Amino acid sequence: MSAKKHEQLVKLLSYHLTKMISESNGISLNYTLELMVHSEEIKGNELLQKNIAEFRRLIHGHQQGEVDISTLIGHPVAEAFFKFFKNFPLPYYEEHIHLTGSLSADFIYPRLMNLLNGKDRVLYENEIKKVYGESALPIQTIDDVDNLIRLKEGEQFNTYLKILFLPKLILNSRLAHEEAAYHMAFDLYTKYNVGNIRLKFTLSRSSSMQAESIPGLGSLTEEDVVMGLYDGFMRFKKDHPFFQFVLSPSFRKEPDFFDKSVFASKKDSFLAQVSTILKLIEKHPVLFNVMNEVDTVGDERELYRKTQFEEMKTGLRKLQYYGFSVRSHHGETWKNLRKGVQSVDNAMNIWHIDTLEHGLSLGINPNFYFQRLFQRVVELNHAETPVVPDSQEWNELNDMDWGGHPEVLQKILKGVPISSSDETLFLKTKFHSAHEIEHYQHDILNRMLHKGVSLTSLPSSNLKLTSNFSIYKDHPFSWWEKKGVKLAVGTDNYITLSTNYIQEMLILLFNDPDNLKITKLLMMVTKENRRPYISHLLWDMRKKFQPK
Ligand SMILES: [Zn+2]
Repeated sequence: MSAKKHEQLVKLLSYHLTKMISESNGISLNYTLELMVHSEEIKGNELLQKNIAEFRRLIHGHQQGEVDISTLIGHPVAEAFFKFFKNFPLPYYEEHIHLTGSLSADFIYPRLMNLLNGKDRVLYENEIKKVYGESALPIQTIDDVDNLIRLKEGEQFNTYLKILFLPKLILNSRLAHEEAAYHMAFDLYTKYNVGNIRLKFTLSRSSSMQAESIPGLGSLTEEDVVMGLYDGFMRFKKDHPFFQFVLSPSFRKEPDFFDKSVFASKKDSFLAQVSTILKLIEKHPVLFNVMNEVDTVGDERELYRKTQFEEMKTGLRKLQYYGFSVRSHHGETWKNLRKGVQSVDNAMNIWHIDTLEHGLSLGINPNFYFQRLFQRVVELNHAETPVVPDSQEWNELNDMDWGGHPEVLQKILKGVPISSSDETLFLKTKFHSAHEIEHYQHDILNRMLHKGVSLTSLPSSNLKLTSNFSIYKDHPFSWWEKKGVKLAVGTDNYITLSTNYIQEMLILLFNDPDNLKITKLLMMVTKENRRPYISHLLWDMRKKFQPK
């Protein structure tokens, strides 16, 4: 099919989709598609009929784990849905986006070339080689940059944190921050109908972690960063008055992530940043309208103990007394599932968080998770293969309570074949582990509901960065939704992860074709609670949308 014909098809599908969604008031995906098949207009058009039927089969196949999400996303019906969401009259709330992973290559490229053609060329090249390897150079085109800032198939969390380096290099002045904020607001609105941004960014770049020491950033102050971002967003708001934003300074939570040449402890380092924030607000009171929360980020696999949480507690408490709320990235990655739940538990108890970002450890079904683990380990054992130290299997096995039979664990770890009675013992041990953790998860989820702690869900980020589930349909969004958790949606680092806000909406819809109502999804992402108003807007779309 020619590009023009394809475009016409998508437009026509989108017209019929808009019509059906408005007439049936935004019901589930499967019902909507079923009704379309019965529509007289569509019955009379073989091409439309064929495409909708095909898409219904693909959705069904996806539920069986046989069709992957990219096949769905690339289908003309999905493109029509994209168009529909893009045209919805209310803008969306992007609730979780980081500055460094959300700048496109066309923005980075000219600024990076300025650095590479400047006097510190060698310095920059060396830093780039350290992070991306020798093959990263020379950088000559926008595509070269694009290639470096996107996560590749199979790459995971450590690579992800590292490749955010390139954007960090160019965010070297107040002006760069202003331009970055404007660029981001412009791109997200014009391409994905996002009109509300909750931006996560690093307030201060000082740190003792080597990969984070960036040349030429010595003179950049926290005020430059914050005021640059503020000015950039305000500039966009001037032409688009509906636009809203939140500046959410984010702090790396790893215990060794602070400048040891300046501070004696993580606690002192964080307190200094807290006082910087409070001074900034005092100097520019208008900032408090948009900067009244903080977030914590980083690798949490070794970060779950109470004492580790105490390090930042005093600083967070101080901010809370000044009216700040606290969000935290938790339960995103974990050493073992129990510790993944524990870290959320501690964030709630010790930090008093208002919103949990990711929270995946609360959504994994332990019975499924441990049964799969059991199957994988038994298979290894039958092949007399030892368990790789510090792998997920290793960490989970070591966390289980083996009671009076530590020798079974030792055999499994070493790849010594176990007897069938040993295997039964292993089965029982994992069964009880799963049960314990399931209980723990429900406990924490109920506490979240009780305290009104909300959860920001990041499907693509979770799928691409953790190895805890392999297909989108296993993401817990729908389960949380049924449980009544207050949910929001974010893309995390949409450029790095090669996704976008509307694509995340499509993923959520395609994952739960029977239960997630289109209207419900729209209400969630626009924060518009007046259902009749949504119906009215859908009806308006229908009136305006005429196919050519
Ligand atoms: Zn994040």
